[in-house]
Amino acid sequence: MTATKVLIVEDERAIREMIAFHLTRAGFDVLEAENCRLARVLLADERPEVALIDWMLPDMSGLELTRMLKRDKDYQDLSVIMLTARTEEQDKISGLDGGADDYVTKPFSPRELVARINAVLRRSKGKDADLLSMGSLELDVRGHRVRAAGSAVKLGPTEYRLLEFFMKNPDRVYSRPQLLDRVWGANVYVEERTVDVHVRRLRMALSESGSDRHIQTVHGTGYRFSASDT
Ligand code: CA
Repeated sequence: MTATKVLIVEDERAIREMIAFHLTRAGFDVLEAENCRLARVLLADERPEVALIDWMLPDMSGLELTRMLKRDKDYQDLSVIMLTARTEEQDKISGLDGGADDYVTKPFSPRELVARINAVLRRSKGKDADLLSMGSLELDVRGHRVRAAGSAVKLGPTEYRLLEFFMKNPDRVYSRPQLLDRVWGANVYVEERTVDVHVRRLRMALSESGSDRHIQTVHGTGYRFSASDT
């Protein structure tokens, strides 16, 4: 098995080298770019699986680069983790809107960074799986069947799509507009509270098995599907 390629896009040399050192030690094949121009060359030539993109870069912001990559069909399988020194909630949300798969706030520990990289890799592999699971909850993508604690769960079509989306994209916060875009479709005009209605129905359907606890309300932001209770 070949090592997973990770591209580090960071203009501060000390930070870039520190990250490269730890990722190499963790067994990754590391590529380094000090600006977006070089990053795009390496992305095209080396096809890394993961890109760590700093927020502040000399030629273009990391957020712009992320947006560009996420809109590009050639990079559908690339996972992006944004590195940011900013901690304000709004910045985190814009990071997610730009399509980053995760974000890590500086300063971070090398161990945390490696854990986040492994988490996005697991998630991106899970996207191709036919059977998704979390806790006692199982979703058969091909058969459109859901089981919780061993029993079949009946869901309406929207609740099913919502659950499939959540199970394919765990541990991320999605705002109501983002859920409308991704689950209902970008050209469908429905009110944001429609999301709440269907989340409520989905929770109700999953409540008997206790699996409803995976659907978490993030106040002021939206919803997250997660194994953890925090
Ligand atoms: Ca920087």
